[in-house]
Amino acid sequence: MKLSHRIVTLRTKNPFVIARGGSTEYRVVCITVTASDGNIGWGEAAPSKFYGETADTVVDVLPLLAAAIEGMDGWSLEAMEHALARAIRYNGAARAGVSAALHDLVGKRLGVPLYKLWGLDPVSSPPTSFTIGIAPDEATLLARVAEAEQYPILKIKLGTAWDERIVRAVREAAPKKVLRVDANAAWTPKSALRIIPALKELGVEFVEQPLHPGDLQGLRFVRERSSLPIVADESCLVAADVPKLAGAVDGINIKIAKCGGLREALRLVAVARAHDMLVMAGCMIESSLGITAAAHFAPLLDCADYDGAALVSNDPYAGATIDGGAIRIPDAPGLGVTLRTS
Ligand SMILES: [Mg+2]
Repeated sequence: MKLSHRIVTLRTKNPFVIARGGSTEYRVVCITVTASDGNIGWGEAAPSKFYGETADTVVDVLPLLAAAIEGMDGWSLEAMEHALARAIRYNGAARAGVSAALHDLVGKRLGVPLYKLWGLDPVSSPPTSFTIGIAPDEATLLARVAEAEQYPILKIKLGTAWDERIVRAVREAAPKKVLRVDANAAWTPKSALRIIPALKELGVEFVEQPLHPGDLQGLRFVRERSSLPIVADESCLVAADVPKLAGAVDGINIKIAKCGGLREALRLVAVARAHDMLVMAGCMIESSLGITAAAHFAPLLDCADYDGAALVSNDPYAGATIDGGAIRIPDAPGLGVTLRTS
């Protein structure tokens, strides 16, 4: 099993800003695994500085990950993902990129799309939301909402001095759409409980990560007093985090870049279900290669936020699509991702 990579700089159509900042350029690492029989698989690592990763740290740990799976036959996905996790702690995006490539490889060898390998029916996939990042002013905000016209569900990034006004403006511009909000850990329990009644009145469906990731007591305090469901994102990385969050939140947001692989993503779904939680999955800014890996388990979700590639203007790949908010998973073997030709 050989690993090779290339770094791709993705550019977003608009500056993508959340509570802790933003950018228009995101570097991802596209990884190719080549098995001894010549078959190949593709995966993408979409690193986030918040979780301590950059494209450079991904590239730095690839030799370690390659060594961990070197003698393996490329079929035993469970054992290989376990070996990757044992090789290095954290570095979730790097491991997820290799995991996705290994899943792609197995699907291609068998000639079946990954969702079929998993026994899933794409018809069960929920529609995806489309993200409205933090805008510098109301006119820009409204322009972003207008650009998102085709999407029936909007996820509004909050964590500003004018959060309630933002949601009110979006609601007025999009009276019929499902609205969700994501504070990206920017609120305190007090400020969360102050704004939630207004969000409820504006028809918001749920609140993602209101508080600091480590503040589980605060999350529990807010959840007990909140009229809206609370979903953990930054507080929930791997399956072992879920039991600790039981009772403190209503749901979790899974991302392969956080959890370190597709098998771990499936474990997160199972553990969250066992705790009767809402199961959502999301993404980073990533190309269609990254999004498509996560799209294959979309049939297991209640909610999806798979707009990472739709926010990008120079996506090198074609794979899953989200036109009109409907997640379409490719039917070709493995991940079913190809290089974009136009
Ligand atoms: Mg989030």
